[in-house]
Amino acid sequence: MITTTLFPGRYIQGSGALHHLGQELARFGGRHLLICSPHPLEKIVPSIMSGLAQAGDVRVERFNRECTDREVERLFGLARDFGAQSVTALGGGKVIDAAKAAGMRARVPVAAVPTIASTDAPCSSVCVVYTEDGIFSRADVLPGNPDLVVVDTAVIASAPARFLASGMGDALATWFEAESCRVGKGRNIPGTKGSMTAYALSRLCYETVRDWGPSALTACEANVVTPALERVVEANTLLSGLGFESGGLGAAHSIHNGLTALPQVHGLYHGEKVAFGVLASLFLTDKPLAIMDEVYGFCETVGLPTTFAALGISGIDDASLLRVAEKSCAPQESIHNEPLDISPALVLSALKAADAVGRSRLARASR
Ligand SMILES: [Zn+2]
Repeated sequence: MITTTLFPGRYIQGSGALHHLGQELARFGGRHLLICSPHPLEKIVPSIMSGLAQAGDVRVERFNRECTDREVERLFGLARDFGAQSVTALGGGKVIDAAKAAGMRARVPVAAVPTIASTDAPCSSVCVVYTEDGIFSRADVLPGNPDLVVVDTAVIASAPARFLASGMGDALATWFEAESCRVGKGRNIPGTKGSMTAYALSRLCYETVRDWGPSALTACEANVVTPALERVVEANTLLSGLGFESGGLGAAHSIHNGLTALPQVHGLYHGEKVAFGVLASLFLTDKPLAIMDEVYGFCETVGLPTTFAALGISGIDDASLLRVAEKSCAPQESIHNEPLDISPALVLSALKAADAVGRSRLARASR
């Protein structure tokens, strides 16, 4: 049996870690393209430019907000014409994905510097491509993982806490999906079985967000860095990235993809929809009450959606839910990694069961 495990080249995290970016980029050469989302371009870049000077010439470019084929092409052209010896992304998942694709096309090292902990994009080789209208187009698997990931937890702590909670929703799914792959015939992103390392890190990811998530969220709301915040940022970014890519995906991400068929949920973040996918997957895979209680309790504490109402789809009819279930069960979906025969009817029941339990728990708590 062949297993494959993928890692970023180097992962650096801590309060003030951004001030190490210059010396890290210097390892790659003397000319660097730095691609920034609009907010960090204004709020963060001015304070780090003098430190970046030790890496040589740095050209700063504004990201066009969406990771499209055209944007990747544009960034690749800039990197080539500038003679960049590395490409760095500063911002959220989309700019990181675009920079990964552009840098790898230019065959230079790629660095990811996330300014929010809502995504596991920084460590992975996956690039999610959108159309010009912002609709999901496809997920490309790039030839490699980023060479460097720098996460400044002081920056993460100054971002809205909802991003951190959403990242926990994504991290929550990691172990459930990897575990389904482990016990069944599920494959990881490179298409092999996962390694012992990947499964163990997935479990650590789950335990970390479960045990330190609420405390980390409180720290983020107070804009301070605490050991709990450090742990959860590492779980959301590094463990979740390693876990999903090398362990494999399952029902939760497919249900997320299915939910995107409903325009009402477009205002929700990725991890918020994934979290509801985890809840539905508990019913699909028939998890015992103790686990259900643990996961629902966690989601309620950190503010992840546990009902249709929280998803913005209260009163949704069965026909619309069936569309979600059918989209979740498309042939290419990772839901087929689950160790049972999946059908839209089963997914529909699981979605309704997840909402019913979510509602009854909230009703009980308010009595
Ligand atoms: Zn995800």
